[in-house]
Amino acid sequence: MKTWLPHPHNRPKLLIVDDQLTNIRVLHELFREDCDVFMATSGEQAITVCQTQLPDLILLDVVMDGVDGHEVCRRLKAAPATQDIPIIFITAKQQDTDEVLGLELGAVDFISKPINPVVVKARVRTHLTLKLQYDLLRSIALVDGLTGVANRRKFDEDISADWRQCFREQKPLSLIMADVDFFKRYNDRYGHQAGDDCLSSVAQALSKTVRRPYDLVARYGGEEFACILPKTDHSGAVEIAEKMQKHVRALGIEHSASDIDRVVTISLGVATMTPTGDLEFKVLIEAADKQLYKAKKTGRARVCSVAMSST
Ligand SMILES: [Mg+2]
Repeated sequence: MKTWLPHPHNRPKLLIVDDQLTNIRVLHELFREDCDVFMATSGEQAITVCQTQLPDLILLDVVMDGVDGHEVCRRLKAAPATQDIPIIFITAKQQDTDEVLGLELGAVDFISKPINPVVVKARVRTHLTLKLQYDLLRSIALVDGLTGVANRRKFDEDISADWRQCFREQKPLSLIMADVDFFKRYNDRYGHQAGDDCLSSVAQALSKTVRRPYDLVARYGGEEFACILPKTDHSGAVEIAEKMQKHVRALGIEHSASDIDRVVTISLGVATMTPTGDLEFKVLIEAADKQLYKAKKTGRARVCSVAMSST
């Protein structure tokens, strides 16, 4: 499952960027007790560390050879993955115009050199607290309250990002759409509370089936779930769908109003394709939906799938 929930037991990640090692040492000394400190001595290095480590806060030197602090900020703010990382500029320049430019680029604060340890600590603490609160709120906003898996908003964000990434890397992207069989009858027979519990159990069974950090299980709406599997070929996705089907059946949730079985089952549609530049991710959703519809029409409690062109 995607590890996008903030982990309160994890220490905050702080990135210190400065072309002078002595400056880095001073800051490192201040924060090594409370944070996981990462260091970069150039703009290029800073961007690489941001992409791989996703720090919670960056202390960024403005004046550096090559890619300077302002340019680092510009590039981080332009990329969806790094645009929310708060940046504090550290600068010897005390011109208002520099501060204005930094703020316009999206920095949250300034610290002037030579640094005052008490001031730096206080500001870092403030901005880390804000960042962790932001992460927490964001994660709450992206969780489906009933089932605990990702919600539709998170699905919409991820499918779009995964489509772009798989296009760049020319890797297959697979999507599974799953729907609880005869769910309306289940609600009618057992009541809405039991219906809610059923959806929650099904969601957990689906979640446990996927293991890689970038796979996502989301509630798509009503009794429908979706699973995004980046860099997964068609046979791999079908195998996962078959397992999901098996795991839900194994929950053994009684469903005496079902025409297919005595327990709750799901129907699944799978679609796989390597994204192309001229198509949108909606094509993949429509294809998976169509296969789900086919699974429903041909008797339910089964997997129907399609591998689309170029995969
Ligand atoms: Mg410098």
